[in-house]
Amino acid sequence: MTVEVKSLTKIYQVGSSEELAVDSIDFEIGANEFFTLVGPSGCGKSTTLRCIAGLETPTSGQILVDGEDVTQTAPNNRGLAMMFQDIALYPHMNVVENIAYPLKVRGVDKTERQERAREVAELMQIPELLNKYPGELSGGQRQRTAIARTIVYNPSALLMDEPLSDLDAQLKVEIRKEIQRIHERAGVPTIYVTHDQSEALSMSDRIAVMNDGHVMGIGSPDELYESPENTFVAAFIGNPSINLVPATLGDGGGDRVTVDLGGEATERELTEGRPVGTDVEVGIRPERVDVLPDPDAGKLTGTLELIERIGDRRLATVDIDDGEIRALNLSTDTLAEGSTVSVAFDWADVHLFDGESGEALAHPIADVQRNEPTESV
Ligand code: ADP
Repeated sequence: MTVEVKSLTKIYQVGSSEELAVDSIDFEIGANEFFTLVGPSGCGKSTTLRCIAGLETPTSGQILVDGEDVTQTAPNNRGLAMMFQDIALYPHMNVVENIAYPLKVRGVDKTERQERAREVAELMQIPELLNKYPGELSGGQRQRTAIARTIVYNPSALLMDEPLSDLDAQLKVEIRKEIQRIHERAGVPTIYVTHDQSEALSMSDRIAVMNDGHVMGIGSPDELYESPENTFVAAFIGNPSINLVPATLGDGGGDRVTVDLGGEATERELTEGRPVGTDVEVGIRPERVDVLPDPDAGKLTGTLELIERIGDRRLATVDIDDGEIRALNLSTDTLAEGSTVSVAFDWADVHLFDGESGEALAHPIADVQRNEPTESV
């Protein structure tokens, strides 16, 4: 089964003003694909998902399920199952009744629905909870019950809106795996909404990054990380976030240009020509930047402001003339906060973006195309 979103626009009427929540977006979700909508709060993810589910009526545009236009079809006739952040199990029903409820609504007889609910509870590894009431369950158990209820009637697609946001870190990891297992097993597309880019990267086949009602970029986790099409996607995907340093295009002009940064210049090929003097932003992932104690050894000199521990890594923030650079490779253990240091990176690792539009002009040069051994200074 496939789901297509075509020129979807949703405008909410708020009093006498209009709120443009989703602005003419397009994407297509393939059979069995795990597809995630990610972006900051308020960017239109939930609205998009609710339009697909049929819980909101689009202002314009279409939703196609398997090529068939379902834009005007009632939610329960779309064959899609939706799970929300707010789990809302029925408190007066026990677990088996909660799980079986969607079947009851569809007129399935009692024996069959109880049997099916037991099967799904087994799948979600909660068979021992069947006679308990929601008030007696832990957060994780409620989540598993809610997932079981979502998949009980073999929906043709699973829609999930921030299903993990109320869980603690450990449970998140556990239920995340559970959702992926269910997705694989159900063999149907899953459309997943989250504001958490790391969740999106770890779970998805493909991701649409949204901002302000627009889709800013769409692709596999690797594509979005390695060749983001603009600064928004570059900055949103990856943690710690990519460094963006202003620079200017020098000699050459057109599509082979030099980039000047910190007195050093390199020649790069652009996807689209730009004149000499164009303002650009040089993007470098923190994982590709080294901090050296010798102020003159690297490309840029600055003050080491801060060293933070992130899991098993250390993140350095270096203040430079044009802002700050964050680096995950610290050359020695003895770097002192407050000291003058330099940052080093390989030109082949940088992205270039148009300074005005944010559009990508060049991405890192693939290892196979680098004709010289990488030299990190
Ligand atoms: P997200 O899921 O990315 O946080 P939403 O889709 O919930 O974003 O919201 C997108 C925009 O639409 C926001 O500006 C939000 O305030 C607005 N919005 C969402 N739902 C409604 C509603 N029912 N009425 C009015 N405005 C809404």
